[in-house]
Amino acid sequence: GGSGATESDMQRARMRLSLQEHLWEFYQSNVNIPAEEQALARRAALDICAELRVFLHAKLPDMPLREMYLSGSLYDELQVVTADHAQLMVPLILEKNLWSSIPGEDTIMNVPGFWLVRRENLEYFPRSNSYWDRCMVGGYLSPKSVLEVFDKLVAGSINWPAIGSVLDYIIRPVVPSETLTLEVQYETDRRLYVDFLPLLVMEDGTSLIAKPHRLAAERHGNLWRQSFRVAETARLRALDQEDGGVRCPCLKLAKAVCKLNPALNRLNASQLTNAILLLCEKEGDWTQEALADRFLQLLRALVGHLEAGRLPCALSPKVNLFCELTEQEVDELGYTLYCALSDPEGLLRD
Ligand code: GDP
Repeated sequence: GGSGATESDMQRARMRLSLQEHLWEFYQSNVNIPAEEQALARRAALDICAELRVFLHAKLPDMPLREMYLSGSLYDELQVVTADHAQLMVPLILEKNLWSSIPGEDTIMNVPGFWLVRRENLEYFPRSNSYWDRCMVGGYLSPKSVLEVFDKLVAGSINWPAIGSVLDYIIRPVVPSETLTLEVQYETDRRLYVDFLPLLVMEDGTSLIAKPHRLAAERHGNLWRQSFRVAETARLRALDQEDGGVRCPCLKLAKAVCKLNPALNRLNASQLTNAILLLCEKEGDWTQEALADRFLQLLRALVGHLEAGRLPCALSPKVNLFCELTEQEVDELGYTLYCALSDPEGLLRD
């Protein structure tokens, strides 16, 4: 029966069309952040960064650091909903001959995407030849211990109320905090959270950040996390530039949906970015007209990855970007997204 099929085809097409309209509406009203709000947040972050540079240079002139810099979605037009957070990258300088990196898959923990940083040549260059020896635990550079050094400084010895009053902000370290975070209130109803992110750039260009593994922190305490953020964000942007595509808007929609929906909070920007990059390998049409189709396909792909318990990093497939989720979290995320497939509009109501 041809006519029945045609009618349901048309109905499906109408639904897609209205989903598309809703996605754009939601994008304009909830996802995108006004330029002025972003500018104020960037300004506050920059003021804090400048103060910290002055303080660290004065107080610890021999701490081997490269210049700190700000980074994150606020700086790549990928932040969504509210301009409320940024990362302050703190690159440590390590002596090449004294430290080496070991990929997680070559250790007993067997976790690709994480690394150990081992102290070398202790017999010729004993402890305290490297400034960072003070953060050595069991022969390895401990990201936790590095964070503690900064925590003591930033939370303990900087007079934030005084600096805040000069800058006309209210600044306080967030306690307790897994990472080291400053809360900056830059207007009565506007807050910005700035995370300190110590960073190692290895000789081959690998970036390692001091952000602990979420599970079994004890056993994984010395692991540094490889960061793919710069490369994965650049790849997504380059693909959009080649064909005028909507991959970035699609990512921002997905990020906003996950931020606004408590059941999806556990999905982060990196997982969503990589799910889109993987989808790009199979799907070429990222025109505006295809947005609703691609958005649905992204949800479906995520359900599939969750069912498999595995989301490979597009830039390094051995890395499983779901490896820090518990089985229960995987189930809950999968269930929520599976239900959303039959009512995607439900994700856009808040
Ligand atoms: P958003 O916070 O969801 O908007 O996503 P972002 O793209 O800004 O990612 C920020 C998160 O990625 C933070 O949790 C960081 O700890 C983590 N991250 C990993 N690598 C990097 C990096 O190289 N730069 C920054 N800024 N964040 C990174």
